[in-house]
Amino acid sequence: MTATDLPERKTYLRQQKAEHQRNVLGVFPAVYPREVLWSLNILPVEIWDPPLQAGRSAAHLPPNTCDVACRGLELILQGHCDDLDGFLFPHTCDSIQNLASIVNDYLGTGKPCFFFHPPRGSNSKAAGLFYRRQLESLASAVRQHFGGPFDAGVLSASVAMGQAIDAAICEIYELRGQDRLRVDNAEFYEILRAGEYLHPNETLPLLKKLTEKTGSVDHRKTPVVLSGVLPSPPAFLRLLDDLDLRIAADDFMNCSRRLQVPPDPIEDPFTALTERYFRMPVCPTRQSTTLQRMQRLIALVGSTRAAGVIFSVLPFCDPELFDLPPLVAELEKRGIRTLVVEAGLNRQLSGQVAVRVEAFAEMIGSGLQ
Ligand code: SF4
Repeated sequence: MTATDLPERKTYLRQQKAEHQRNVLGVFPAVYPREVLWSLNILPVEIWDPPLQAGRSAAHLPPNTCDVACRGLELILQGHCDDLDGFLFPHTCDSIQNLASIVNDYLGTGKPCFFFHPPRGSNSKAAGLFYRRQLESLASAVRQHFGGPFDAGVLSASVAMGQAIDAAICEIYELRGQDRLRVDNAEFYEILRAGEYLHPNETLPLLKKLTEKTGSVDHRKTPVVLSGVLPSPPAFLRLLDDLDLRIAADDFMNCSRRLQVPPDPIEDPFTALTERYFRMPVCPTRQSTTLQRMQRLIALVGSTRAAGVIFSVLPFCDPELFDLPPLVAELEKRGIRTLVVEAGLNRQLSGQVAVRVEAFAEMIGSGLQ
C-alpha cells in the first residue's frame, strides 16, 4: 500500500467490520491509549478534519468554536457515523469536553460514549497512578460494553506494535529532517495521517515503505518547521510544495506531539503505556509551559537547520492561541523568523494567506544566500 492506493475511509471501516469482526470507535482529539483498543479488537478511527460543509452544528455550538469540534459534530449530525459502534472523548480541551456532553447527553445517537481523562501538567507519582487507573477503567468500560476477556499477552503485543509504529515514525522524521526522504509535504502527511484510521497491521508496513523512499539532498528546497494543530488544509501543504518549502520538522498536535518515545522494555503493559504517556513531547493541551514549547521549537529549528517557523493557526483553538504571542516574540528575539497564518480545516486557502506565505518564502530564501 502507498499514498496513492490508500483505501477510502468508509469502505475500509466496513471491510474491517465484515472481515475481522472489529468494532469501530470514532475517537475525538487528541491523546488516547490506542493499544488498549487494538487489544480488544477495536479499531479506533480518529475524527479531526472530516471534509464536510459545516451547517447543522451551528445550532448546537457557539460561533467561536474551533473547526475540529464543529466538523466532528457535523459528521455525526449529517449521519456519517452510522458505521461506528461508539465514540471516545479524551479530555483534551473545553471544546472537546463540551462536545462530549452534547453527544452523550443530548443528541441521542444510541451509541455508547467513552471518556478518557489523562492527567495534565505533572509527571508526579500520583499523576502516574491516576493515568494507570484511567487506562484500566477505560479498558474495563469498553470490555463491559463490547464483551471479550482481558488478555495481558494480547495487550503486551499491542503495546509492542505501538512502539514499533512510533519508532518508524521517529525514523521518518529523522530522514525528513536530514532531507533524505524523497516525498513532498502533501504525500508525507497523507501517509503519516493514514494511521488515524488504518489498523496497525497495515500502518506499520506503510511507514516502513516510506522509510525506503530515500535519496540525495535537494538543495533547492528551504527547510521550515511548522507548528499548530494539524497539517490542513491540503491546499496549504501544496502551496508550500510549490514554493519549495520543505517541512523539515513539525510541532503538530496530531503528529509529532503524540509520539511516544519507547522506554526500556517493561513487562507490565499498563506500566509501559503509563511510562510512555509521560515521555510525549510538550503540548499546551497537556499544560506545557511556553518556555518548554519554545525550547522544543528551538531544538527542532536547530536540528533541521530550518530557516524559520510557520505557525498554522486554527481559529478559536484557545490552547494554541494563548501560547502564540510569547512564542513568536521570543523566537523573533532569538533571530528565528516566524510567520503566523490562519486557515480553517479543509477550506480554500485565501489569496491573502497565499501572498503572505510567498513573501515569507522569498524572505527566508534570500536570507540563506
Ligand atoms: S485543542 Fe484546539 S483545535 Fe483541538 S479541539 Fe481543542 S480547541 Fe479545537
